[in-house]
Amino acid sequence: MDFELPESHRLLRSTVREFAEREVRPRAKDWDKEERFPHEIVPRLAELGLLGIKIPEEYGGSGLDMLAYAVCVEEIARVDGSLALTVASHNGLGTGHVLAVGTDEQKQRYLSRASRGEWLAAWALTEPGSGSDAAGLATTARRDGDDWVISGTKMFITQGSVGGFCVVLARTAFDVPPQQGITAFLVETDTPGYSVGKKLEKYGCRSSDTVELVLENVRVPDSQRLGQPNQGFRDTMRILDSGRVSIAAMALGLGRGALQMAIQYAKDRAAFGKPIAEFQAVQWLLADAHKDLEAAALLTYRAAWLADRGERYTAEASIAKLFASEVATRICNDALQIHGGYGFTREFEIERHLRDAKLCEIGEGTSQVQRMVIAKHLLRE
Ligand SMILES: Cc1cc2nc3c(=O)[nH]c(=O)nc-3n(C[C@H](O)[C@H](O)[C@H](O)COP(=O)(O)OP(=O)(O)OC[C@H]3O[C@@H](n4cnc5c(N)ncnc54)[C@H](O)[C@@H]3O)c2cc1C
Repeated sequence: MDFELPESHRLLRSTVREFAEREVRPRAKDWDKEERFPHEIVPRLAELGLLGIKIPEEYGGSGLDMLAYAVCVEEIARVDGSLALTVASHNGLGTGHVLAVGTDEQKQRYLSRASRGEWLAAWALTEPGSGSDAAGLATTARRDGDDWVISGTKMFITQGSVGGFCVVLARTAFDVPPQQGITAFLVETDTPGYSVGKKLEKYGCRSSDTVELVLENVRVPDSQRLGQPNQGFRDTMRILDSGRVSIAAMALGLGRGALQMAIQYAKDRAAFGKPIAEFQAVQWLLADAHKDLEAAALLTYRAAWLADRGERYTAEASIAKLFASEVATRICNDALQIHGGYGFTREFEIERHLRDAKLCEIGEGTSQVQRMVIAKHLLRE
């Protein structure tokens, strides 16, 4: 289903697919079982340009577009949801925010290290008391001379304990509507006061790093303010548009990987004297999965394409994420069903895909939040 992709992106797809099949698939099961972040693969991600996909070449990145970003995340997710989440959040959220509103000095310092894999990027919006209601965050940053002093707790932060820097969203104005008083800051993770509260044990994406962060009087100079004061929430919404395309791509890859496994298993497994692939009940599950993945791909690539044309794509990103993530969970579940009892064991990869896919319905805005975004768009029109 590559007919709509340009030649350059088809080439990129086959390069990333080969890397994922050869270097990620054989190890992903162990990483998941050990719930361990795979530090050893980071240099390879950097060598392949997967840690600076959209970062311009002048800052050491690959200088590719959003469609390329989606293709890369999709291909990694076919074999490992955790690593896809790492690549998606590093490129889309942490470095994406610097790319969108950073100064040239900030881009030089943070994006070049990020592209080389020296610093993975984290991005901290969510807090124990605010997730969907992101503007309700309670972390504060108070001005002290030329510095800012940040205090608060962040929750579910990807790369929070393995990253070199973290973009932290904090409240900087208190007598204005919540959305108008938030500012972003670049915090290097060795700054005094930055600490990991706890590493979270998760249902899926277990080898991706997800932690609670504690920020205790973290002092940063004003030069590490990212974007205009009190404009951080508006920038955050833009960052999430791009992030949602990558989560749609992650869901698409997990769904495609699951379908591939289901087809293979259905051909190999015999029951009642023939391969189970010959039973219509199994064929219909495969056909529906294929049909929905084709639609998910078109929605995902359309959102990326609109972004690359510089058009607004907020609703399209939400539509792609909502559709792709919901069908991915169903497809992984059906693929596990096709594997019968073996699918329920950890011997096969399908149970991991199902667990990883569920994240796509939650991260970067739940399915309910995506429906709110789409409805708002419809009603405004
Ligand atoms: C593995 C993982 C990685 C993550 N990585 C990051 C990260 O790197 N950085 C970061 O900042 N965050 C991260 N998150 C956080 C993620 O974005 C939030 O979990 C998500 O936005 C939901 O917020 P919440 O968990 O607080 O749920 P809540 O907002 O408490 O929602 C609970 C339920 O209520 C529903 N709900 C809430 N409000 C409404 C409404 N108005 N109408 C209808 N239903 C509603 C939700 O849809 C959900 O079903 C990550 C989460 C996970 C699980």
